[in-house]
Amino acid sequence: MTHSADPDGLLEPLISELVTDSSLSHYVQNLIQQQPILVRFRPDIEHCFHTKRTQEFSQIFRIASALWLLLFVVIFLGTYLNFPYIFQSNEYLIWQSTFAFTTLTVIGLSICAYIPKSHFFVHHYIIAPLITLLLYQLLVGSLALPDGQMNIYASYNIILTMVIAIFSLRLLWQKTILIIGCSALMAGATLFINGWHIVTLQFLHAFVLVATVLLSIAFFVERRERLSFLHEVLVAVTSHELARINTHLATIAREDALSGLANRRAFDDCLEMEWDRARREEQPLSLLFIDVDHFKLYNDTYGHAAGDDCLRQVGQTMKKTLLRPADSIARYGGEEFVVLLPCTDALGAEEVAERVIRAIDVLAIPHKRSLVAFHVTASIGICTIMPHEHHTISLLLENADAALYKAKTAGRHCFKHYQEPTNSIKFNFQG
Ligand code: GH3
Ligand code: MG
Ligand code: MG
Repeated sequence: MTHSADPDGLLEPLISELVTDSSLSHYVQNLIQQQPILVRFRPDIEHCFHTKRTQEFSQIFRIASALWLLLFVVIFLGTYLNFPYIFQSNEYLIWQSTFAFTTLTVIGLSICAYIPKSHFFVHHYIIAPLITLLLYQLLVGSLALPDGQMNIYASYNIILTMVIAIFSLRLLWQKTILIIGCSALMAGATLFINGWHIVTLQFLHAFVLVATVLLSIAFFVERRERLSFLHEVLVAVTSHELARINTHLATIAREDALSGLANRRAFDDCLEMEWDRARREEQPLSLLFIDVDHFKLYNDTYGHAAGDDCLRQVGQTMKKTLLRPADSIARYGGEEFVVLLPCTDALGAEEVAERVIRAIDVLAIPHKRSLVAFHVTASIGICTIMPHEHHTISLLLENADAALYKAKTAGRHCFKHYQEPTNSIKFNFQG
């Protein structure tokens, strides 16, 4: 089931696990109506939401990792060109080691991007380089007090890193806040140690402003994503329900409610199909018209409900006598049934008719007012045909019906076979 709300088909396998729960649709509708400020889901939907988002994230992982690599190279080159002494003097060992660590992490991350199996934990990998970058820039910004230039570079880099951190780590909302909080604490601590200075205050001001704006944006993006996910779930659930109802309707439109057999509509379709096939493959096609004997008397004696039950039992019993998968049975109307036997000649059809009559005999439903036996019996008219162009489908039915009439007049509880004469269309009964 791929629907418009789920163009990538990501939601489908997840939703199919959820839709078995009938309360889901109600729960989702309620949440959409309430539009809470903080949108939280119950655990199974939360899991589904996270899995979907991780899958989406994993799809853009390659591009993202290339961008991080680029960003890192820019930062590295920028630092190297402007402050080459950082990489030359032992005084800056912290920065050098930070750079070394970040280089390794970013390269590792880029390799992971090409290993699909590693994507499941993708968001965990992102945290390390981002924290490193953020802390590194904070260090630069806080320690480089006398150098305003360096401070500005650090501020730019912090803004860039935080944009990536907040939008990449929406998967891990709490951890994002933790990182920003720790960074703020660290920045505050360095300020406390170094004393108040106007450049540091400006730097902190930028940091707090960016963090607040970005966190607010991330919060609203998160909320909108969650609400739109709810709509997706609702559409998926509704589509699933509609598909289920359609399947059910299609089934009952082709099924006879009383007997559980195919109904006349389904039989007509099947007959048309088999007729065409028999004509194409030049194979015989047999049809049995079956009518329960003295059924009016049965109803009058045992009541309509018992009559219904009798029809149900007779129908199911007859179905069991059909051994080939291609054979089909349908309730044609009232107490009349039809059996269609593709690739079956007259002899084969008579064998089946014999089996049907015997099976109903074995069922032995008492029928004390029957004029034929002490139990319910049936009569069968058979028609076997090799469909040709001058034949019509209705001919098969009419001939079988005519044969049935003959079986009735011959005393019931038997079958009669209609056979087409070789050079004229005239009835020829055998029994
Ligand atoms: P025959 O041996 O000549 O076929 O006699 P019959 O009484 O079976 O045939 P007739 O056509 O006179 O009567 C058929 C009866 O089948 C009449 C009707 O009440 C009954 N019948 C048809 N459909 C149903 C049904 O769905 N449920 C029940 N209980 N009876 C039905
Ligand atoms: Mg009848
Ligand atoms: Mg009858």
